[in-house]
Amino acid sequence: LHKALLDLECKKRRSRAHVVQEDGKLEADFRQEYKESAHLDWADAWQTALWQLLGQLSAVDRSRIGALAIDGTSSTCMLVNQNTLEVLSAPQLYNASQPPSSVQAVKDIAPGGHTATASTSALCKMVTWHHSGTWQTAEVERKRPCLLHQADWLAALLHGQTRHSDWNNALKLGFDPGLPGYPEWLLSQPYAGLLPRHVHAPGHAITTITAETAARTGLPADCLVCAGTTDSNAAFIAAGVSEPGEAVTSLGSTFAVKLLSESRVDNADYGIYSHRLGDGWLVGGASNTGGAVLKQYFNSAQLVELSGRINASLPSPLDYYPLTSPGERFPINDPNLQPRLTPRPDDDADFLHGLLEGVANVEAQAYRRLQQLGATPLTKVLTAGGGAANSKWTHIRSRVLGVPVETSPHGEAAHGAALLAQQGFHEHKRAHARTTCLNPRGGG
Ligand code: ADP
Repeated sequence: LHKALLDLECKKRRSRAHVVQEDGKLEADFRQEYKESAHLDWADAWQTALWQLLGQLSAVDRSRIGALAIDGTSSTCMLVNQNTLEVLSAPQLYNASQPPSSVQAVKDIAPGGHTATASTSALCKMVTWHHSGTWQTAEVERKRPCLLHQADWLAALLHGQTRHSDWNNALKLGFDPGLPGYPEWLLSQPYAGLLPRHVHAPGHAITTITAETAARTGLPADCLVCAGTTDSNAAFIAAGVSEPGEAVTSLGSTFAVKLLSESRVDNADYGIYSHRLGDGWLVGGASNTGGAVLKQYFNSAQLVELSGRINASLPSPLDYYPLTSPGERFPINDPNLQPRLTPRPDDDADFLHGLLEGVANVEAQAYRRLQQLGATPLTKVLTAGGGAANSKWTHIRSRVLGVPVETSPHGEAAHGAALLAQQGFHEHKRAHARTTCLNPRGGG
C-alpha cells in the first residue's frame, strides 16, 4: 500500500481517490460528489471534497501511504495569495471562453496556432485577469497574487508551498516542456510575475505534507506530495501505456487519441499538441466523431442487441464518416466536412456495423495522420470510455487498425495520479539513497 491519488473532475462534479499497492494494484477506491455553493464558490467545493476524500482514507492503513499526487481539469485556474494560499479570484473553469480581447492579446505574443491561443486556455484567463486589473489591485494590497491551476492549488493546501505546477497543467499557460521553461515571449509580459515559478515533471516529489495536514488527515508526516497532471493525461497514465507506439483511444461521447511517441508533434491546423511525459511525448488529437453519433440513432440496449448480430470479421460495405453536425478538425481539417451516413440499409444491425466501421476508419486515419506528422508508428491501442465495452467494435477496430486493440484495465484518472505518486516516491527514495551513499555522514 503506497500511493494515493486524487482526481477532482470539474465536468462531472465528482472527485475520486485511488490507493495503489507497491505493485500498482488497486487497494481502495473512494468517491466524493461535490456541488458548487450558492455563490459559485468552486474553490471551496473542491477544498471540501479534498478533505472529505482524505477523511475516507481512514478505511485503509494511512500510515503506509508514502506519496500522493493530484490531477485536475486542464486550464481550470485561479489567482491565489502565494503566502497564504487564499483565493483572490473565483476560479475560471476549463470551458470558460475568454473575451476576444484576451484571445487576441495572446495571439499577438504566442507563436501561430499555439495551444495557449485557444479561447479557454489558462493563458487567456491570465490575460483577462490582467485586463481587469484584478492582480494589480491584489498586488497593491500586498496580497502577493500568483496563478495556480486547480491541481496545483489543492496540492499546495497539502504541502503548504505555493508557485509549484507541472509540465502538463502549465502547457496551456504557455510553458514549453521542450526547454523546459517559459519562453521569452511570455516572460517579457507585465503579468509574468504571476506564473507558477517551479514547474516540475509530472510525478516529481515536491516536498512532504505539512504538520497540519498530517494531523488533520492521519497521513504520515513524511508523506510526499508529487507534482500532478491534467485529468486526460492521468487517464492515459492509468491505462498503463509505457512503450513508444502504444496509444489510448477514448471512445466516449467524443473521440480522442493519445499516442506515446519518441518525437514531439504540434500542429495547429489539426489541433494536435504534445504533452511531455517521462522521456517521451504524449501526442494527442480529438475528432468530432464519437459515441454521440451512435446515441442519435440507438439507445444502450439497442447498441448491445444490434452489435450481437454484427459479423465483425467482414468489412462493412458502407463508407460512412459519422458526425453529429458538419465540420471536422482532426484527422481531416475541414470546417465544412459533411456527415456521411447514407445510404441507410433496412437492417439496423447493418447500419450500426457501418457506423462502428466508420468511426474505426476515422481512428485509423487519425493514427496515420500522427505518424505522417512525425510521431512514432502505432503498435498497440488500449481503449477507454463507454465504447470499450463493445467487443464487436473492438474486433472491427483491430481489423481496421492492423494492431492489437485491448480494453484499458483502468480508465480512471485517479488511478493514473496514484501511479504518478508511486513513481515519484521511488525516484525520491533512489535519489535519497544516492545522496546518502555519496555523503555517508548525512547532510544530503
Ligand atoms: P462520456 O463520459 O464522454 O459521456 P462515456 O465514456 O460514458 O462517455 O461513453 C458513452 C458513450 O459510449 C455513448 O455515447 C455510446 O455511444 C458509447 N457506448 C455505450 N455503450 C456502447 C455499446 N454497447 N456499443 C458502442 N458504444 C457504446
